[in-house]
Amino acid sequence: MSIKEFLISCFFPKRCFLCNEVIEYDKHICENCAKTFSSVQIVRNIQYLNGERVVKCISPFLYKGGIRKAILNLKFHNIRSNLKFFASSIAERILENSDVSDIDYICFVPMSERNFVNRGYNQSELLAEALSEILKIPTKNILTKIRETSTQHELNFNDRSKNLLGAFSVCEGEIVRGKNFILCDDIITTGNTLKECVKELKYNGAGEIVCCTIASVS
Ligand SMILES: [Zn+2]
Repeated sequence: MSIKEFLISCFFPKRCFLCNEVIEYDKHICENCAKTFSSVQIVRNIQYLNGERVVKCISPFLYKGGIRKAILNLKFHNIRSNLKFFASSIAERILENSDVSDIDYICFVPMSERNFVNRGYNQSELLAEALSEILKIPTKNILTKIRETSTQHELNFNDRSKNLLGAFSVCEGEIVRGKNFILCDDIITTGNTLKECVKELKYNGAGEIVCCTIASVS
């Protein structure tokens, strides 16, 4: 390392591109992230009605290690440096799994008004926009969260699905009818949040829906 490089690294320490941790000057990624950032393919089925009524949810990562840290950075600290990386990883997996030529809009899981005002942005909306740029499919703000819900992870399994019942609504029903969607969220845990959004879109006449998230917890 030259003296100039040394001085630069003192004032502007090099950070891991995934989790923002300070790293050595000649590295691009921290050791923790290097172990977890290689993209995988997780396809989970979301059953939104009884029987065979399922849609796919595609995620390129497991929710752990550096990926988890990077998602938390995006969600709570407005660190957007990984958005493109996340979106292109998702796009790659979607294109392997589905034909997107018939998709009309990319939409996203909404936040409640109160949470949106507190945070100032919706990370799922940012993700939808980044995905839109890559796939050349327009985003549409279609869903709205009409009531506050408890934080999902504080509830037991039964209360989790009840908690979200009727929490989401479609803003403009006439736009949804007969249209096909990609629906984005940051992570999938039980799948209940996406399920409620899918139900609402389907109830309003949506055609095909493909869900996607950055990461899946399992
Ligand atoms: Zn890292």
